[in-house]
Amino acid sequence: MRSQLLPFCLLLVSPMYGQDSGLRCLNNHPVELDRHLSEAPQALDRALTAKAALDARTASFQRGGGGPYIIPVVFHIIHNNGPENISDAQVEDAVRILNEDFNKLNPDWTQVAPAFIDIVADVGIEFRLAQRDPEGNCTNGITRTVSNLTEVGDFDMTQVIQWPRERYMNIWVCRYANGAAGYTYYPMWLDGWPEADGIVVQYNYVGSIGAGSPFRSRVLSHETGHWLNLMHCWGDSNEPGDDANCAMDDGVDDTPNTRGWTSCLVTGASCGNVQDNVQNYMEYAYCSRMFTTGQADRMLAALTSPIAQREDLWQPGNL
Ligand code: ZN
Ligand code: CA
Repeated sequence: MRSQLLPFCLLLVSPMYGQDSGLRCLNNHPVELDRHLSEAPQALDRALTAKAALDARTASFQRGGGGPYIIPVVFHIIHNNGPENISDAQVEDAVRILNEDFNKLNPDWTQVAPAFIDIVADVGIEFRLAQRDPEGNCTNGITRTVSNLTEVGDFDMTQVIQWPRERYMNIWVCRYANGAAGYTYYPMWLDGWPEADGIVVQYNYVGSIGAGSPFRSRVLSHETGHWLNLMHCWGDSNEPGDDANCAMDDGVDDTPNTRGWTSCLVTGASCGNVQDNVQNYMEYAYCSRMFTTGQADRMLAALTSPIAQREDLWQPGNL
């Protein structure tokens, strides 16, 4: 039950996202979430209600012919005229990779182990840099704001600028992402906390060019998974590589229970499996190549749900 109440994760991210970094993933950022829960007494009940509704929806969700699901995206670059003021080209490269990964267009999906290659998902979500800002003016989907808070990367930084979460997926790029490579929250937490809705990412975990790198370029696919209600493959834990994770489920049928991986042993097996899905985006094995079809269904159940207003994003009226 504790893991349901406080699904924190404090995960070593360096092996997956960059051989040159020791940064962590901070899903459901524990410091920020603790502060929120202490300041907003109703927040926990609201989140548990949202979780129950989304769990029920997910359990009965059948992928139909819906879509295409097009999500307008805005990158807010919070900078202090340092290297975190990344180029438009780096942002566009990140969006390209995100679209490849969510549409089975990443060239490296063919390297997936035979045991899992038949369940590599074409999730069918397209991310497009916004062309209109909230006032209806033309935009390239990238804002730039000078603020010292780029050195902090906390909730207060996200309040420097945010576009309505029911119309845009907000991504904040900063110099220091509050101790993480990137972080976001499950829809259950964001449902009643729209101010925090979006993904915070450190500038060198965006795209594969400029300050980014191919090794770190899948961070946004991983974080977008969380933003669309995916857990890590080993479950709601902050401890990959722990045998106790074998007793924990990630809510997805076709991902085997696993200890969780921080190195890329493609043939790796744990928890009595023949093989683990080491190459999953929601693992930490630095060789991620895929979402499973089960994960795709779980994400689409969230995206077509009113929880955290996800279903508003892709409506034709919003595009
Ligand atoms: Zn994560
Ligand atoms: Ca599973």
